[in-house]
Amino acid sequence: MKQRLLFLGPPGAGKGTQAALLAERHQLLHLSTGDLLRAEVKAGTPLGLEAEAVMARGELVSDELVLAIVRSRLEKHQGGWLLDGFPRNLAQAEALEALLADLDQRIEQVVLLELEDGVLIQRLLSRGRADDNEEVIRNRLVVYQEQTAPLIDHYRQLGLLRRVEASGTVEEISARIVTGLVD
Ligand code: AMP
Repeated sequence: MKQRLLFLGPPGAGKGTQAALLAERHQLLHLSTGDLLRAEVKAGTPLGLEAEAVMARGELVSDELVLAIVRSRLEKHQGGWLLDGFPRNLAQAEALEALLADLDQRIEQVVLLELEDGVLIQRLLSRGRADDNEEVIRNRLVVYQEQTAPLIDHYRQLGLLRRVEASGTVEEISARIVTGLVD
């Protein structure tokens, strides 16, 4: 089974839920930059203070900051991993490729979770996170389209992209993801 994975997709597509489930079932490191940033904000660290206002607006925090978080975790880890919410733009994707080359590792598959905007917005509104009000949600979708969606073509050209329909139950979606990882 493939075990060096990226989860890509718009906010609300279920990346966090699916990544956590897969990581637990297959003993992979689940690295969510959003979760790690929220932990820094909660702990009131300098990094958290820097990120908080940016996150509240639904913008992306700086590439340097996020990359430092990812680098420190991947350098220490042996075995499979699943990156959730990173990379978010082409500069981050290129930085990740350089980091992985240093570590003599490579991405084995990029899982793209696809869902229509109307459903995404409903899901996000029902989640109730600090950055889940309607205005910020719309901004996060715009940021996704402008900055993150170009990664779809990037990974498609590298032959790594696997599209997964992200509607249905958690188990249905999970089964679709796993199918793509074993063939
Ligand atoms: P998420 O939990 O992935 O939806 O991320 C929540 C927020 O954290 C985003 O709206 C960004 O402000 C920030 N964030 C998470 N991951 C990244 C990343 N790779 N690059 C920049 N900002 C990020």
